[in-house]
Amino acid sequence: MSKTPKTRQVRIGEHDMVAMSPDDYHRLHAVRRQMGAQSARMRVLKSDLNRALTRLAQIEAVIRRVTLDHAADACGREECTSCILLKTVDTAPSPHDANGDHS
Ligand SMILES: [Zn+2]
Repeated sequence: MSKTPKTRQVRIGEHDMVAMSPDDYHRLHAVRRQMGAQSARMRVLKSDLNRALTRLAQIEAVIRRVTLDHAADACGREECTSCILLKTVDTAPSPHDANGDHS
């Protein structure tokens, strides 16, 4: 919303109420709809992110299991796929370390 709606407090019977112009009301209502849509989109993105993080953790576990017996320190082969995979999972920052909780 580009500007704060102008409101006025009114009393109807025994109830204090807030009055605003119809244009301000419609703008406020539109902003609330946009916020609701963005909130729903954020929930979907969070769910997608959590699924991706789970999948990455599963892939990392598979890589570690497949390369379990590989002695990377003693390997010394250039372009060794096992060494490249181990280095990748060992040096990749954990998303949980970067910015906190993703639950
Ligand atoms: Zn190797």
